[in-house]
Amino acid sequence: MLSRTIAANQLKNSLRASKQIRNLSIHEYRSAELLRQYGVGTPAGEAAFEPQQAYDIAKKLGHDALVVKAQALTGGRGKGHFDTGLKSGVHMIESAEQARDLAKQMLKHRLITKQSGAKGKPVSAVYVVERVNAKHEAYLSILMDRQSKKAMIICSSEGGMNIEEVAAKNPDAIKKFTVTESEGLTAETAKQISKSLGFSAEAEADAADAVTKLYKIFKEKDASQIEINPLSEVEGQDTKVMCMDAKFGFDDNASFRQEEVYSWRDLSQEDADEVVAKKSDLNFVKLQGNIGCLVNGAGLAMATMDVIKLYGGDPANFLDCGGGATPETIETAFKLILSNEKVDGIFVNIFGGIVRCDFVAQGLVSATKNLAVSVPIVARLQGTNLEEGRRIIEESGLKIYSFDELDPAAQKVVELTR
Ligand code: GDP
Ligand code: MN
Repeated sequence: MLSRTIAANQLKNSLRASKQIRNLSIHEYRSAELLRQYGVGTPAGEAAFEPQQAYDIAKKLGHDALVVKAQALTGGRGKGHFDTGLKSGVHMIESAEQARDLAKQMLKHRLITKQSGAKGKPVSAVYVVERVNAKHEAYLSILMDRQSKKAMIICSSEGGMNIEEVAAKNPDAIKKFTVTESEGLTAETAKQISKSLGFSAEAEADAADAVTKLYKIFKEKDASQIEINPLSEVEGQDTKVMCMDAKFGFDDNASFRQEEVYSWRDLSQEDADEVVAKKSDLNFVKLQGNIGCLVNGAGLAMATMDVIKLYGGDPANFLDCGGGATPETIETAFKLILSNEKVDGIFVNIFGGIVRCDFVAQGLVSATKNLAVSVPIVARLQGTNLEEGRRIIEESGLKIYSFDELDPAAQKVVELTR
């Protein structure tokens, strides 16, 4: 059972790190566009993809006080640093020349933050915005609460910093409000929220208005998460409340009706292998070990990882090829597994209920030939068209260790990769 817990935790962490599952993240400048569409206050600004464009935007904004913000899908950019040594992904600047110079230093480089992983994220654009004076910084997020199955609005009078930090140091500053589907966000709740942000009394009406519109975006755009940090009380603007930063996530299940939002997907921010996997309907997550696994069904994938661990091995990945696997998807799966040079052996564990053993065998054989696989392969096939699958493997003349039972198969692959 211990191994199960380890495998489960490892998988959970990887799924979280990969962020590929069921959720689309968009860049801050795209989120700002949505905010503007709904009439929510956010500083004026535009994204630049070339240094000169950053200069032009800065000139167009017509202010000296500006902020240049690296567009990479990660949080904590302000406190991050670049692979070049440059500090911070959020810079306060005073001229268009500085905007151009910073864009040159940020674009195409990688931004490393507490949340990005050691490799960091590539900077796809820089967002050049007017610098707005903030009197007070608060925090607001809207998400689906799994327990109550309702939307939840979380707010705090202490914004601009990591919400986990606030939760640890000053939990009383955090307030939670649930919103029922039938009622929606009532004027009364919006008012209560606006009062818990720590703003001055004059800003409360604008805050309630902003929260109401944010909830409207959440509903209409099938968002899974909206996080505004900071939500600031500002001076010298048409509105007294502005979103200075916005992180939006969207539910993949609704992608079919959110064309605009999904057209904003930035593949450069995602793990290349995971993008390939998703295209073939493979559920692929990299892990730390050296045994590549090809399995069908998430449950069997977990069990396979456990059994490998039980015999002292360490899985290199989690790969669920699902029920619809064809010889082509199996070959893609092999490519993905082998793109990791740590892999010393491959364990194929297929229970052919919907997926057919002969398809798996065909994919296995053609992948082994086409990709000149040099590491040992252990295959345990069971189920539909098993005999046909076995025959294909035997006739191929390839050295594939075939097993009927899981335990001896796992033992074999661990032995071969030790
Ligand atoms: P994050 O570090 O990825 O969360 O990036 P943010 O967009 O939140 O920027 C970091 C910090 O810079 C914010 O918490 C604000 O305090 C500050 N900041 C960003 N934009 C502005 C702005 O237009 N005006 C002012 N006064 N502060 C800003
Ligand atoms: Mn922020």
